[in-house]
Amino acid sequence: MRNRNAAPRNAVVTGSTTGIGLATARELARQGCHVMLNGFGDRAEIDRLCADIAAQSGTTIVYSGADLSRPEEARAMMAEAAAALGPIDILVNNAGVQHVAAVHEFPDDKWDLLLAVNLSAAFHTIKAALPAMRERRWGRIVNTASVLGMVGAPHKPAYVATKHGIIGLTKSVAIEVAEHGITCNAVCPGTVLTPIIEKQIAQQAQVTGLPEERVLQAVFLDRMPTGRLIPPEEVAAAIAFLCSDAAASITGTAIPVDGGYTTH
Ligand code: NAD
Repeated sequence: MRNRNAAPRNAVVTGSTTGIGLATARELARQGCHVMLNGFGDRAEIDRLCADIAAQSGTTIVYSGADLSRPEEARAMMAEAAAALGPIDILVNNAGVQHVAAVHEFPDDKWDLLLAVNLSAAFHTIKAALPAMRERRWGRIVNTASVLGMVGAPHKPAYVATKHGIIGLTKSVAIEVAEHGITCNAVCPGTVLTPIIEKQIAQQAQVTGLPEERVLQAVFLDRMPTGRLIPPEEVAAAIAFLCSDAAASITGTAIPVDGGYTTH
């Protein structure tokens, strides 16, 4: 992905040390972008990941360990990205956390954490990214929502609220910046087998009473007509398309990548 002067685009992908974000960072780098990765994990392993992506893509790959539940760290990460790479053209708000519990037992601190990471962090990064995008009259913002941004589910009140919320934020930003060459879209994945799902299996077994080995099929796969887990690379491909010049007229959308989950 290159601009009019054939220079690489600069991208920030939050929550990109594993799962969908990592696949997205790899895909954007493969298409020629300089990328800042972000997220938690073992530092030596993350450094190896960055070196591996840089070697394959030939682009600059940097990392920020910003904790996006903290607004000041989200803002500092965006400043660090611009200092390291140059003005940011592409922002993918992908970091996300989950907690599964009945609403009457849902811990207050988990409610606050999910709102901060899944929703407020995107507000802070978008706010920081927009001035340079507006000035350069080009920008792509993609927010990873979920099928649970479109329909409800039991035992996930905070997650469903934040994913519905980020689709609202997406639409509002899209309308506001449309005249400035900037698009803002959301992708809505169905079930992708990543750490966020793996960590949920035991919690789901507890709240549903299902044995752990039945959870993946009964809670996740039975809802997708395709009946198969979605590879992270398929979500990454949709995100990368939304970041391309070809997607200039697609804005304010929430695009399902969900194996048909939301068709019934
Ligand atoms: P994942 O657990 O592999 O990735 C989450 C990423 O967010 C990791 O890099 C993690 O380190 C990072 N992260 C968590 N808390 C953070 C914080 N406070 N600050 C910075 N980074 C933080 O899971 P994933 O499935 O790849 O999730 C990516 C996104 O996709 C999330 O927004 C999730 O809600 C969404 N999603 C996932 C699925 C699925 O089935 N896996 C379905 C729909 C939507």
